[in-house]
Amino acid sequence: MSVLKINGSIIETVIFDFDGTLAKLNIDFQRMREEVVKIIASYGIQTNLFKTNFVLEMINLATDILNSNSPQKAKMLREKAMTFIENIELRAAEEGELFAHTRELLTFLKAHNISRAVVSRNCEKAIFKAFPDILSYCDAVVCRDLVKNVKPNPHHLHTVMEKIKGTPTSTLMVGDHPLDIETGRQAGTFTAGVLTGHFQEIDFLRAGADLVLPRAVDLIKIIS
Ligand SMILES: [Mg+2]
Repeated sequence: MSVLKINGSIIETVIFDFDGTLAKLNIDFQRMREEVVKIIASYGIQTNLFKTNFVLEMINLATDILNSNSPQKAKMLREKAMTFIENIELRAAEEGELFAHTRELLTFLKAHNISRAVVSRNCEKAIFKAFPDILSYCDAVVCRDLVKNVKPNPHHLHTVMEKIKGTPTSTLMVGDHPLDIETGRQAGTFTAGVLTGHFQEIDFLRAGADLVLPRAVDLIKIIS
């Protein structure tokens, strides 16, 4: 039977990012960030000294700051910010769609006894809205709802591998953002960048990807 090999190693598990890799969702991250910064500022915290530009990490930092003096306010801030983010994600999921060959790819991998999973910073509701039958195609879906530290923290990817009993040395992480590559490298997996998001081949090579593919479905072509 044909196998998927990368740098001489047989791949038994493929873990996919979702947005930009298996589906096109058009989440308005700029609007999301602007509003979250406003919400945080309304609690008297300025985000300009935060060392991150990512909304989930900004919310974590702001709630950590508030928690020492007012756990109640911290809880309110988190709820308000997360509700806002979730609404944007759900709308994007409603308007978005899976890439044309996503089901074909996942079916092909399954037929070759390769485990399939999704790791995403998106919320579970949005993923299931965009791909209602995802669990017929994937062995696990680990969105941000299920972990404390999301990718690029490798803990997120380790959680997926634990669930499906995958080992890093036979796992491939596939994503459309250099952070997906960073996450995979930190977790000890092989990594592949795909060009269906906003990044180019050079970005993935700089991030240290083992391979770069035009689309996730092109994985089929390298199974031999
Ligand atoms: Mg993505």
